[in-house]
Amino acid sequence: MSREPIVGIDLGTTNSLVAICDARGPRTISDRSGSPLVPSAVTYTQGSAVVGADARSGAPAHPRHTILSVKRLMGRSLPEVSADLPFLSYAVEPGPRGTCRVRIPGDAGNADLVLSPEEVSASILRHLKQLAESHLGTEVRKAVITVPAYFDDAQRQATRTAARLAGLEAVRLVPEPTAAALAYGLGLSAGDRTPRHVAVYDLGGGTFDISILRLTPAEGDDPFFFQVLAVGGDTRLGGDDADHLIADLFRREIQDRTGAPPAPDAARGLVTLAEQVKVRLSEHDTAPVRIDLGPSGVYERTLAREEFESLIAPLVDRTIDRCRQALAAAAAELRGKSLDAVVLVGGSTRIPLVRRRVAECFNLEPYTALDPDQVVALGASVQAAVLSGDRSGTLLLDVIPLSLGVETVGGAVAKVIMRNSPVPARATEMFSTSVDNQTAFRLAVFQGEREMASDCRKLGEFHLRGLPPMPAGIPQLELTFLVDANGVLGVSALERRSGRRASMQVIPNHGLTPEEVDRIERESVTHAREDMTRHRIVDLIANSNLDLKWIGERYDRFSHELSPADRETLAACMARLRELVARASADWKSVPPDDLHQAKEALDRASVRLQEISIAASLRGGPLRPG
Ligand code: ADP
Ligand code: MG
Repeated sequence: MSREPIVGIDLGTTNSLVAICDARGPRTISDRSGSPLVPSAVTYTQGSAVVGADARSGAPAHPRHTILSVKRLMGRSLPEVSADLPFLSYAVEPGPRGTCRVRIPGDAGNADLVLSPEEVSASILRHLKQLAESHLGTEVRKAVITVPAYFDDAQRQATRTAARLAGLEAVRLVPEPTAAALAYGLGLSAGDRTPRHVAVYDLGGGTFDISILRLTPAEGDDPFFFQVLAVGGDTRLGGDDADHLIADLFRREIQDRTGAPPAPDAARGLVTLAEQVKVRLSEHDTAPVRIDLGPSGVYERTLAREEFESLIAPLVDRTIDRCRQALAAAAAELRGKSLDAVVLVGGSTRIPLVRRRVAECFNLEPYTALDPDQVVALGASVQAAVLSGDRSGTLLLDVIPLSLGVETVGGAVAKVIMRNSPVPARATEMFSTSVDNQTAFRLAVFQGEREMASDCRKLGEFHLRGLPPMPAGIPQLELTFLVDANGVLGVSALERRSGRRASMQVIPNHGLTPEEVDRIERESVTHAREDMTRHRIVDLIANSNLDLKWIGERYDRFSHELSPADRETLAACMARLRELVARASADWKSVPPDDLHQAKEALDRASVRLQEISIAASLRGGPLRPG
């Protein structure tokens, strides 16, 4: 990469992920275990911090040393999180200035650890940063990080701080639903300026969020692609509740059968087991359950999907109620227009009942092509690629070619918007006075990379007058620079103590006409969608080749055991997929990804009998060598 990589990070309550988007398209980065999901769990013992799966699985053994769901504490005061406390296994106490802290008891001669939520999040972010660095082989210092749409300033600020503590600059915080829409290329509609309306339904581990978005290609004075029309949800509703319902069912039945509740050891394992059962029921109609109760015997039963669905129906109903409320809240903005898409986000949207109910509620088949627990991270990486502008001509939104700043005391320039920031861009900086009783500011706006105003190009100046006399350093001058999609720079000044305001507008010289800016933007967004399709094709080719190899080898050995009809179908499916793969490999645009996907699925289905035969053969001890 010619320029510094910017990664996309989904910093989740339950799981976190890091993704990168480059010429190969957006993709999440996996650790050695092969999974990109890093459980948002940190265990602090004996002076060290363990992050991820090991921390999650060790949580029952170290409840007071393992910090889970720290996202709930970010930027909040103790009273604000009081409702969460009963669900947290670790100690939370008040910190300075209305913040909260977690206290981890000392061990092995170490004193208690008292940490801010930012520090705990920083441990997770550091882990993700290292994951990305070892994958990319280069240092990673910048990230786009997603936050819930409802996060307020304090929560966003805490997220930025966590990033800084982890050695990452959060170049942008993106709302999670916006990222999900971006991952699907929604809102990147080439040439077409009609707004799209999208619902993002996000059911994670412990939280449910519904957002209704309007996606408008940037235009005129409105610098926003994505507008959140309504948000709703429940911060205490998610997949964990389903686990508990299943675990409760098992507990009740064990009690009924044995006359006593399960022993503490068995009880602790119940929730973990319940989650496994739940996950299996997303794919299968039944899940076998077997729990060794020691002297009281064995608890054995099969949980059917229908049974599971009636168990969780009230939970799903609650999410659907919230969806209706959000739709009602957005009704005025929607003005009778119906939604264009529904995007599913969060691991729990893999539950078939959830998918059915969402489809019913919105009367739309939801978008599920991307992994629901990866889609937010993928979208963050798409945004990162847009920001880094390092996409060999593609996905390059117009950028600000030279930094914009304001002259400060002594003739230096304080840069407010850095060069290569994409438009629209907005940045705010605080300034104050250096002499007592200054009642006016002269604000001279410059463009350029040099440090001194005399070496930069002056774009204009304006004054903020009528301030009450104050000692030096006391006035709080908030300067906001906003470059809209057409490259018009607006600078506004607000002195916060007196409320005085002033502003001006200029057009910094981009060397580009608005038409050219439009064209570049259109092309870049076209490419964004193209990149996404290409990414999918490349993945499909790779997976198809693996299937063809695996099935081909077994076909050579065992096809004589198939019925002639099965053999013929299978051969035809292989030939069809081979042909599509060959065409797609020669020119990825020549094959629609859905065709390739269907051919691959068809082969999967046609090879079931062959797979059974080959498994039976391997069980008979036949010398089946791995391919
Ligand atoms: P968060 O956004 O809160 O960090 P995730 O989106 O990672 O959470 O979702 C985690 C939840 O998804 C967990 O409750 C997990 O059990 C659930 N989950 C993951 N995979 C499946 C599946 N295949 N079927 C049902 N639930 C699943
Ligand atoms: Mg999430």
